[in-house]
Amino acid sequence: MARIASNIVSVIGVFGQILESQKRQCPAHGEFTDFLTGLGKARSAAWSGCQLCADEKRVEADRVEQEALTRENARRAIESRIGRSCIPPRFAERSFTNFRAGNHGQKSALAICAEYAESFPAHAQRGRSLMLLGNVGTGKTHLAAAIGNHVMREFGMTALYVTAGAVIRHVKASFDRDTAHNEVQAYQLFAAPDLLILDEVGVQNATEFERTVMFELVNSRYEAMKPTIVISNRGRDELPTYMGDRVVDRLRENGGKLILFSWESQRGNGEGA
Ligand SMILES: [Zn+2]
Repeated sequence: MARIASNIVSVIGVFGQILESQKRQCPAHGEFTDFLTGLGKARSAAWSGCQLCADEKRVEADRVEQEALTRENARRAIESRIGRSCIPPRFAERSFTNFRAGNHGQKSALAICAEYAESFPAHAQRGRSLMLLGNVGTGKTHLAAAIGNHVMREFGMTALYVTAGAVIRHVKASFDRDTAHNEVQAYQLFAAPDLLILDEVGVQNATEFERTVMFELVNSRYEAMKPTIVISNRGRDELPTYMGDRVVDRLRENGGKLILFSWESQRGNGEGA
């Protein structure tokens, strides 16, 4: 019988027998009992540390996991509402590493956009926007997509890519009695993501209605301190015609940057957009 009992003790020992205990001081929680526990051959004995610290760590890990889950649900909700077209398929794999930066302007644009993406949570906290202006085929959408991809992959945040024309159509459709969304909901869709990439500004007609839509869109995000990347083939002086003066002012607030893509088109040069 004694032999069986000793076998049981050694089995318990494998799964974590308390070998020793000591009173110690935790800088945060004061005195606690530290237990040295044997974990068998797989892992050597280890001290338990402060139990209150361990509890706090667990609570924090739960909170982080919960937050990630909430963000993921928000991202899914946006995707299911607009389809999976957050970033157009053509730009789905665009990154900073596959952007060709030959001249000084391209290198500078790449550096600003890469920094913006890497520090996005800090920029987002201040609602800091970006304006990418210049000719077609200079890589504006490429760099914006790279920012969007980085923000989604690295930070699990939501990014939505949309053209100005699509926004205007979506708002216009809300006036239709047969449409499922009303005007408020139409703007809410674009106000929700952590980052909105608004492409092809200035391709539309520059009517008063279109300026109003652009203002409502950028303003709702501005008030929520959420950044917007505006992409346009129009120059700095022309942009207010399509968005209104106030919109351009808001995009420049809190250190919002304007990047001019002033080089020639790279299309047909092995490099799209
Ligand atoms: Zn502690």
